[in-house]
Amino acid sequence: MNYGQHGKQEWIKTTCAYCGVGCGIEAKVETSMHSADLIVQVKGDQTHPANFGRLCSKGLALGETVVNQGRLLQPFIGSEPSNWDQALDLVAQKFQRTIEQHGPDSVAFYVSGQLLTEDYYVANKLMKGFIGSGNIDTNSRLCMSSSVAGHKRAFGTDTVPNVYADFEQAELVVLVGSNLAWCHPVLFQRLKAAKSQRPNMKVVVIDPRHTDTCAIADLHLPIKPGADVLLYNGLLAYLAKQECLNDAYIESHTEGFPEALACATADFNDATFFDRLGVPPSLVTTFYRWVAQTAKTLTVYSQGVNQSSAGVDKVNAIINTHLATGRIGKPGCGPFSVTGQPNAMGGREVGGLANTLAGHLEFDNPRGHELISEFWQSPQLATAPGLKAIELFDAVADGKIKALWIMATNPAASLPNSNKVKTALSNCDFVVVSDCIADTDTTRLADVLLPAQGWAEKSGTVTNSERRISRQRQLIESAGVAKPDWWIVAEVAKRMGFGDQFNYASEADVFREYAQLTTLGQDEPSCRRDLDLSGLTDISDRQYQNLEPLQWPFPAPDPAHLPKRFFAEGKFYTANQRGQFIAVGYRPPQTATSVDYPLVLNSGRIRDQWHTMTRTSLAPRLCGHRPEPFVSVSAMDAKAHSLNEGDIAQIDSPYGSCLGRVRIGEEVSPGQIFMPIHWNDTNSSKGRISAVVSPEYDPISGQPEAKFTPVQMSPWPYQSEAMLVTRVAVELPEECYWVKQTVEQGLLYYIASLASPAELSAQLNALLGEEFQVNALGFTDTGRGFTRCARVRVGRLVDCLVVADRLADKDYGWLADLLVSRIDTSVQRSILSGIAEGDLAHGKQICACKKVGLKTLQRAISEQGLTSVEALSLATDAGTGCGSCLPELGEILKQFPAGG
Ligand code: SF4
Repeated sequence: MNYGQHGKQEWIKTTCAYCGVGCGIEAKVETSMHSADLIVQVKGDQTHPANFGRLCSKGLALGETVVNQGRLLQPFIGSEPSNWDQALDLVAQKFQRTIEQHGPDSVAFYVSGQLLTEDYYVANKLMKGFIGSGNIDTNSRLCMSSSVAGHKRAFGTDTVPNVYADFEQAELVVLVGSNLAWCHPVLFQRLKAAKSQRPNMKVVVIDPRHTDTCAIADLHLPIKPGADVLLYNGLLAYLAKQECLNDAYIESHTEGFPEALACATADFNDATFFDRLGVPPSLVTTFYRWVAQTAKTLTVYSQGVNQSSAGVDKVNAIINTHLATGRIGKPGCGPFSVTGQPNAMGGREVGGLANTLAGHLEFDNPRGHELISEFWQSPQLATAPGLKAIELFDAVADGKIKALWIMATNPAASLPNSNKVKTALSNCDFVVVSDCIADTDTTRLADVLLPAQGWAEKSGTVTNSERRISRQRQLIESAGVAKPDWWIVAEVAKRMGFGDQFNYASEADVFREYAQLTTLGQDEPSCRRDLDLSGLTDISDRQYQNLEPLQWPFPAPDPAHLPKRFFAEGKFYTANQRGQFIAVGYRPPQTATSVDYPLVLNSGRIRDQWHTMTRTSLAPRLCGHRPEPFVSVSAMDAKAHSLNEGDIAQIDSPYGSCLGRVRIGEEVSPGQIFMPIHWNDTNSSKGRISAVVSPEYDPISGQPEAKFTPVQMSPWPYQSEAMLVTRVAVELPEECYWVKQTVEQGLLYYIASLASPAELSAQLNALLGEEFQVNALGFTDTGRGFTRCARVRVGRLVDCLVVADRLADKDYGWLADLLVSRIDTSVQRSILSGIAEGDLAHGKQICACKKVGLKTLQRAISEQGLTSVEALSLATDAGTGCGSCLPELGEILKQFPAGG
């Protein structure tokens, strides 16, 4: 890598690549003293209004992911390296020929909330405007499309009415289906700071799981999975009964209230109401009473609400309560959907979802269609919505879609029922994948691979959950011949004969055109809408480069930077400008549990990983906290299924199977289990949970029901376990369970097998070769097959293998430290005994930023008699980085009390 045009050893302001909080970052590029590599330093941008200098563990580790290792560095056709001209010509020809033979709906794009707005805009313009099909959908479908649909039903547009400052101004914050502490950590930190400054502020968590977010909750309602509509209908009925409604707001600015209230009351008055909720009436009533009493109530919701076959109804049930109380658009209150991805919002703006046209203009708006058609000079602008993600891949499976272009996403690992998706991609006539990573579950199935720029190379804009547009700036030159996604799409468009409309000189050019599109028809009643960037239509390249974070709508330059909220005075974007109550009745999840599949599988993110780990797994410090796929299970279910802590459980659904390490605790209630979404076939053999997850989806939004899959659980009857530390990747036997973890200077493999320890030991010894068998220190008990061997060269570890029937202490993570340690006699003793000594004995990683392990924390508690999180943090440094581990420190203090 070389310095980019902006990489002049100065701090450059840019934006985090991960979640929808959209934190501002300052990054500096330096050369390494020891290699040709560049070092990208990262710190929080003190001036960015999303985070004011804070970052979470993932954001802080971004610099460690800027490596050439694993990058897609040039185009490939099949498995053969190619060049841009050949690859682009082929993509254009294949798409063109397919369209000629089978029509525009025989092709599709599947894009991503990881794309920048400029990338998204050009991709949407090509598919809807010039190919003439609506078949462009995005992985944001899996993340927040239920919120989009709910917003449109209630507000007339996909409008997020709130701003992040509402977290500081609210008096009651209700977190629904949101593990904010792990999934939006900087918002959690803002909320926590606000609560500690104003102790009267209350936080309610509504989630079937007891997550780290509950650490700051005054009340946790572990409702039954999928019961959100019921809870919120009950709230609406309660507010009406207690005469806590805002009649003036309902009267002046809304319609549909009587029908919505009738539906809500029917649910609330049902004799089974509390049974179906699954929460004691006293807790529910407390929650209702707090809402009734608190004008500044902010409801924050996320994937727990959206990822449901009733996701849109859940969103509207929440919004109904805010419309009924007039608590919307004012400081500290409102229904606030926080998005999962860094640019899910940008995709929504430009039309990246198959069922929207562009710039918040919809397919069912003839005047909007006319304006866009004229603006793009595209006579064949699509006239109907395209296929949403699940339908789109079903159409690939059915052979209806014959050419598919996947950009910046990994559907073979992330879509539900992913075995079917993999088969569909294998059988599809032509699959193009543009990505910055070479080896993903999806790139393995591509006919053409196109190298896209990575985070540090890209330049453009992203929009966060509070509608704030921020610049992502180029820090370094592209790896290999990687190109911006917008450039790749434009080059294909030109080769398809649409050169005049895709002749962009730069991303700034694209942005200006997009801003111009948002102005179309704003003065006409039928096209009046929220998204308006008229103040940015003629910004110069220099102004674009220096663009400060700003919120839309942006009709004109706004020196005061006042927070922009919507709907305090009504003025919704519906035909009559009234907000719409939607009458929703509770519907249980699409598929119920049964004798064959008695448990409910819930899925979600973990603290230190992102999506399918293609980038976060490059940073060793992000890999230690939860190194393996796991199954959280209650003690009661563990016992009923003959599972102990640390065992491996097999999870089966009608769609597929996966394995995970058992974690027993109080996180989930009996009848439910939880697994993380991140592992896939490139970093594990059987950890791909998406193979199990149900493809059922919401009938309106098309968002899959990723939080509710009926499953069966059983012990995986492995006979042997191993840990392998190596400096290079190895090919492990297919039939094994294995998980690969990136560690400093190498890899750590967790392995289990149905074979005996002797057989597994023989297999792994053979894999490491004769030289290992001859030169490794340690021993192998040939009878039982137990092995503890390490190969050392000039005082440095080359590789290390431990095999047993059961590894007594699952925490062998310290073995990985051997790759960066000098191998002295105490280290050799540790290898031979299997018990970490001295500096190695820090235990499983808890704090990713400061690399503090569990044993270090336990020692500090017992030796210093520590009793508070603050004291433990002070003594060990844990939690002094991003602070995401502080809730876990509290749990550790409870589990291992001083003197306990
Ligand atoms: Fe990135 Fe973390 Fe901020 Fe999300 S909260 S944008 S992952 S630093």
